[in-house]
Parts: sequence; structure tokens; C-alpha cells
Amino acid sequence: MTTEYPAAARQGEIFLFPSKESRSIQVTTVIGCRNKCSYCPQDAIISSYAKRSRECVMNMDVFKKCADKIPADVPIHFSGFSEPWQNPACADMIAYACKTEHIVDVYTTLAGMMPRDAQRLLSLNIRRLFVHLPSDSGHEQINIDGDYISSLKIIRNSGFPVKYNLHLSEVHPKIKPIVKTAFYMELNTRAGNAQYNSKRSVRRKLGKLECAIDSCLMNYVLLPNGEVALCCMDFGLKHVIGSLLDSDYRSLFAGKEFKRVSEGMAEADSDILCRRCNFAYKKPLVNMGRLSKFYCKMRNIRSARGFAQQIQTFIFNKTSSLKYNQKNRLK
Ligand code: SF4
Ligand code: SF4
Repeated sequence: MTTEYPAAARQGEIFLFPSKESRSIQVTTVIGCRNKCSYCPQDAIISSYAKRSRECVMNMDVFKKCADKIPADVPIHFSGFSEPWQNPACADMIAYACKTEHIVDVYTTLAGMMPRDAQRLLSLNIRRLFVHLPSDSGHEQINIDGDYISSLKIIRNSGFPVKYNLHLSEVHPKIKPIVKTAFYMELNTRAGNAQYNSKRSVRRKLGKLECAIDSCLMNYVLLPNGEVALCCMDFGLKHVIGSLLDSDYRSLFAGKEFKRVSEGMAEADSDILCRRCNFAYKKPLVNMGRLSKFYCKMRNIRSARGFAQQIQTFIFNKTSSLKYNQKNRLK
């Protein structure tokens, strides 16, 4: 099954550069992340989700029904608004997504992962693995116990191309003997949902906007109850664009809420999340696609370390995609 872009979804001009690489569905396996990183707006997602549903832990049936509706050329990311391994069915979900021939990326802190889960994860046909490490700043409440250390060692020694990252400072001293350095990730306000550098939002952006993450606005987040939010900035669930339990994938970008956002990108007075998002940028008169996205990402970088990280990310993405493609061609 491949994705078609229905004419109804080509509202405004945001569909000029549909990019297969940037489309994805991020799976939020549970609501409420125990890691409680100081820079993450967990309060926002917990309170806004409580108004919509009581299903805080995604069950396997819901996942299967939703995954079956996600086209195979839309990568599934296990990430979303919480640590995926807080859900005991997480590894089964990843296995199912791989079995249904989706491209699967995993973003984890390893919190909740047992050493046997780490072994199993490495045996699955995932494309990329990102590990968010605890820093020495105390901003994360990731429990560095024996299981954590064993899982990290298994992953570290596996030879799998893993990308280790962290925010704010240096790798936690308990981790340093295993992973000495990690990619430094810039923080942002999550479109006004999180406080960062004592600011809660960026100045409201005017004019015709475009999203630097995906100009097609197809970077959705699947919630435990099957509903789908606009993107990983939407911790306040301002734009829930549909439900994969109730309808199909195409209906997500053919519905009223998606239309409101896509049209709102062109209207300066629109009340949409993107107007306060670091990743929204003023659409240039001559849109040069990838170059303008790259420019926007660079503009958000505040340090030489951030710049180096962007370059490393680019190389990591290219090499892991190449390795994944090679592995699957050899099958
Ligand atoms: S681990 Fe990720 S989702 Fe959980 S609190 Fe930290 S930043 Fe948020
Ligand atoms: S809120 Fe930001 S990341 Fe999300 S769609 Fe809008 S511009 Fe893109």
C-alpha cells in the first residue's frame, strides 16, 4: 500500500514539496512519561488527553488496527509524547510494525527496558535507533539501575548504528564508562507548550508559513486511543486531526481540523500552533525546498555544538538509511 495525496488535501500551497523522508507517524504508547525531564511539557499532554480519553496505555489490538491502516511507505517512529518502553507491549508493537513491512525508527531512553528487551529489539528489522541519555544536570529522572546499565551495554556492544543524544550538559557520570559522548540536542519551546530559557513561546510568526520538519504537515502522532495529533509539538492537543480507529489514513489530511491548520499557514491572523513554533518559517517567494528547510534548521541553532550536531545528524541519517536499504535488498 502506498500513499496517494488526494486533491482535497492539497490545500494552500503546502503540498509543493511532498517528501517521503520526512513523513511519519509517531506512536505514543502511553500518556505520562515517568522520566519527567524538566524541559518536557508532560503536564500539558496529561491534562489535555484526560479531557479526551481514559485509555492512557495503548493496547495491542488498537495498535494493530491503526498500524494496518498506515501505508507501508510511511515510517513508524516509536517516540511521541512519552518513553515507549513504559508500555509492556512495546516490543510486540515494534515486531508487528516490522512484520507489516513498515520502516521503523525507535527513540528511547531505555527506561523500563529489560536486558532481554534490548536483545529482542536488536534482532528486529528496525532502521534507526536513537537513545536519549540522562545528563549530569539532573534535569531527567531516568533511573540508572542495573537493568538500565545492562541494556545500555548490550546495545553499545551490538555494533548496531545507534545515535546517542542528550540535552543541556554532559553525559551522566554513571554512563560515561559505556558511552563517553553523545550528540547535543537543542531544546525548543514545543510551540509554546514548554518553558525554555525562561520563555514559553517564540514571537508569533506572521505571513505565509511552512513547516521545516515536513512541508506537507504529515508528521503525525498516534495516541493510545487511536486519535492522531498534528505533530510532536502538539503536547496541548490543539489539533487532533482524526482517529485511525474510526477512519483511514487519508481521512487524516482530508478532515476539517487538518484543513484549518493547512489554510491557517497562509493566514496571518490564524490561531494555529505553527505560528508560535520554532520550526515554522516564512515561506520564501521562491521556494527552494530542501535548501530553505536546511536554512530554517540552521537559524534555530544557537551554538557551534548545535551546528556540529546538525551535520552529524545528516551523516547518521544518510548512513543508517543506506545500511537499512542494503540489508533489505540482500534479503
Ligand atoms: S523522556 Fe522524552 S517524553 Fe519523557 S519526559 Fe523526557 S523528553 Fe519528555
Ligand atoms: S507546530 Fe511546528 S512542527 Fe508542528 S506542523 Fe506546525 S510548524 Fe510543523
